[in-house]
Amino acid sequence: MQLRFVGCGDAFGSGGRQNTCFHVTGDAVNLLIDCGATALPALKRLGIIHNDIELILITHFHGDHFAGLPFFLLDAQFSRRTRPLVIAGPQGIEARLAQVMEALFEHSSTTKRKFELSVVALAPEQTRDFGAVSVTPYSVVHGESGGPFLGLRIEAEGRSIAYSADTEWTETLIPLGRDADLFIAEAYTYDKPVKNHLSLATLETHLADIRPKRLILTHMSDDMLSRLDTLRHATAHDGMTINV
Ligand SMILES: [Zn+2]
Ligand SMILES: [Zn+2]
Repeated sequence: MQLRFVGCGDAFGSGGRQNTCFHVTGDAVNLLIDCGATALPALKRLGIIHNDIELILITHFHGDHFAGLPFFLLDAQFSRRTRPLVIAGPQGIEARLAQVMEALFEHSSTTKRKFELSVVALAPEQTRDFGAVSVTPYSVVHGESGGPFLGLRIEAEGRSIAYSADTEWTETLIPLGRDADLFIAEAYTYDKPVKNHLSLATLETHLADIRPKRLILTHMSDDMLSRLDTLRHATAHDGMTINV
């Protein structure tokens, strides 16, 4: 499989980076992990045919992970998409999606579409299969509003991709990321503790328990971005493609 960082920034455009959106493709896989507000233009800039994407997984309802959906869906409709689409995310996603669509484009949540849209709520530690893709969500810890918050472990084509989503340290990150072929982890700050987010220093103290085969850091603040040259770990950048 391949994973492309369509966007790996935070909510504040730090470093001029796009909001979170990762594109995973393989022989039988074409999915997005998160769909932040800037996802549609970022997908188009990379020449990704968004109407071929079959599954969008959402970790939480903050705008930098979720608010790209109205644009994605509207464009799918106007470009005459016919391929069915599944959007899966935390409990309450159906209502939250309708709310954000109505807030941004009035009546867009009820307009008739030429493609079938299924919106699926995921429950923590309950594995769901979507065709060739198996998704296990884990509860993570990211504050009071915008949840429930899920980190995701995705298995497909014999490989595993784990994504911490936005979270402070929580023990669920261990089974989520353990021995994963790829673990994408938030490293918001270098060592400064920030509520609801993960610092690299905290993550590092647990890496021996998680033992990912490959680690890539994402969702970095200006503090982290100013240290990119000195870090001992791989870091994401927009447009970066890796084989998993
Ligand atoms: Zn975020
Ligand atoms: Zn968030």
